[in-house]
Amino acid sequence: MADPNCIFCKIVAGELPAKLVDEDERTIAFMDIAPASRGHALVIPRVHSKDLTEIEPEDLQATILAAQRLAKRAKERLRAEGVNLLNSCGAVAWQTVFHFHIHVIPRYQDDPLRLPWVPSQGDPNQIGAAAQELAGR
Ligand code: AMP
Ligand code: ZN
Repeated sequence: MADPNCIFCKIVAGELPAKLVDEDERTIAFMDIAPASRGHALVIPRVHSKDLTEIEPEDLQATILAAQRLAKRAKERLRAEGVNLLNSCGAVAWQTVFHFHIHVIPRYQDDPLRLPWVPSQGDPNQIGAAAQELAGR
């Protein structure tokens, strides 16, 4: 069901403008209004779901396949040298629009994007403890 307060549902319904670049039965993709790089697009399911934990498996599958299509196009048509896919799940993880979406961010050799963390060796005990809690169904 569409959420009347959701801007991405309004884009799906054609009530808000967007530059569409791809669509299929389950998904649409459009340009991000505040692009991180040239060609930055968003893929969303047509059906509203808040985030990664709530999206239906069929919609998740369709959105990731659409993201792959766009990634290939970014490389072929925009001459991107690489691509980042990004999904933020929850406000603490930077999600600002609560309709599931995958960012497709074309990457270029000289672009200004940087990793948001500084990789450094982790504590094996802490890694192991987290692994124990995560492992299994
Ligand atoms: P996130 O912060 O991961 O939830 O991503 C939300 C993204 O939606 C941001 O990159 C915004 O720039 C983008 N955005 C917000 N409103 C619009 C809009 N009306 N059309 C296109 N992109 C939008
Ligand atoms: Zn929505």
